[in-house]
Amino acid sequence: MKISRRLFIGTGVAAATLSAPMVHAAGHGKPRVVVVGGGSGGATAARYIAKDSEGAIDVTLIEPTRTYYTCFFSNLYLGGFKQMNDIGHTYGNLASTYGINVVHDWAIGVDRDAKEIALAGGGRVPYDKLILSPGIDFIEGSVPGWDMSAQNAMPHSYKAGSQTQLLKAQIEAMPQGGVFAMVAPPNPFRCPPGPYERISMVAYYLSQNNPTAKIIVSDPKPKFSKQALFEEGWAKHYSGMIERVDPDFGSENTSVDPGAMTIDIDGSVEKVDVCNVIPAQKAGRIAELAGVTDGNWAPVNPEDMSTKADPDIYVLGDAAQQGDMPKSGFSANSQAKVCANAVRGALTGSRVFPAKFSNTCWSLVFENDGIKVGANYEPADGKIWSTGGFVSQTGEDAALRQATYEESEGWYSGITADMFG
Ligand SMILES: Cc1cc2nc3c(=O)[nH]c(=O)nc-3n(C[C@H](O)[C@H](O)[C@H](O)COP(=O)(O)OP(=O)(O)OC[C@H]3O[C@@H](n4cnc5c(N)ncnc54)[C@H](O)[C@@H]3O)c2cc1C
Repeated sequence: MKISRRLFIGTGVAAATLSAPMVHAAGHGKPRVVVVGGGSGGATAARYIAKDSEGAIDVTLIEPTRTYYTCFFSNLYLGGFKQMNDIGHTYGNLASTYGINVVHDWAIGVDRDAKEIALAGGGRVPYDKLILSPGIDFIEGSVPGWDMSAQNAMPHSYKAGSQTQLLKAQIEAMPQGGVFAMVAPPNPFRCPPGPYERISMVAYYLSQNNPTAKIIVSDPKPKFSKQALFEEGWAKHYSGMIERVDPDFGSENTSVDPGAMTIDIDGSVEKVDVCNVIPAQKAGRIAELAGVTDGNWAPVNPEDMSTKADPDIYVLGDAAQQGDMPKSGFSANSQAKVCANAVRGALTGSRVFPAKFSNTCWSLVFENDGIKVGANYEPADGKIWSTGGFVSQTGEDAALRQATYEESEGWYSGITADMFG
């Protein structure tokens, strides 16, 4: 296969010449939508377009893995509240019930002139509209001493699956009184409360099985999501176990040595038993290959999630730079529904509703001790803005915290059904 230069880099010129509303390439019947990435954004978008267009649009979903493990609730697996099977989902229903053409392969390039995706397996898939929801990749060199070759010694576990299982096995193998370290990521990153829910769940496991163990968090940020709520829970349930080092104490000067299993925080070197390195993040690489990122994230139009670089390419979820919404599964799912409605309208003339988005991030701090933060959002002036939100309060009673946790379980069932049917 001859791969043109534009296949890998894309250009704004191509975008300008190829864009045309309500048209699809001549010479074939139905309009074709290709979705890259079968996670929170991509699976939802594929399902909604297929379901609502009732066969009027050909939908292809490209996703390399056969089982998608949700990052959401993966911390609960670390804490012992969920099994791995509880967070795994397959694509059979999207194919059999919704007629989606599910292709298990990697997208490795986007030819914006020919409007085709190149697959690692050698195939090419044409599109009229392309939706990218590839999640995140890591920024090389953001944690000195760590690169992807060190992910077995020091797992990131920020893409769920084997990395999550590895981290759990390492926590279980810690010696009594051992040390668990985390290098937390700088903003912006996938799931703002995610590292801190993880700390809570690791602390829960250790409090039950290894109560003299210690947790050190090196955090490059001065503050973090739901901080007062997490810190209240840590003091209440895990007193003396967790030490968080922030920039005032040199956290920005952190490096690791995966061979020696040490972490160096501002010159103070400590031997650790487990080191969870969560590097700085950027959009999944295929967005960069499509030429729709600013180098890190893909700027999008908030009305429909189309990219600023190309009106026929849409980016959802973590990879998008959209404004106020946090990078969460709920956000990606919400954006996918807005995008699906707009894409269907553009291709079939169906009614397009004004964009409205919502998000809630739940976290579990201890058994039945759930907390949440959420908001609604609308587009204005080229970005997505929060129109008002809510957050759990410190000092809430146990019954409310239990109800919040139960709400999160209901949400998990709902969103995974919304993604996979
Ligand atoms: C520990 C942790 C806890 C979290 N907890 C929550 C929570 O409680 N609530 C919540 O809402 N969110 C939570 N999140 C965040 C949530 O998981 C992400 O924000 C969400 O998955 C983003 O959806 P996405 O579609 O952008 O990416 P993903 O869901 O990651 O999907 C991306 C998919 O694209 C595929 N892909 C990537 N590149 C290619 C390619 N080139 N070709 C084909 N396929 C490709 C990948 O295999 C993957 O399946 C959590 C995250 C973490 C790490």
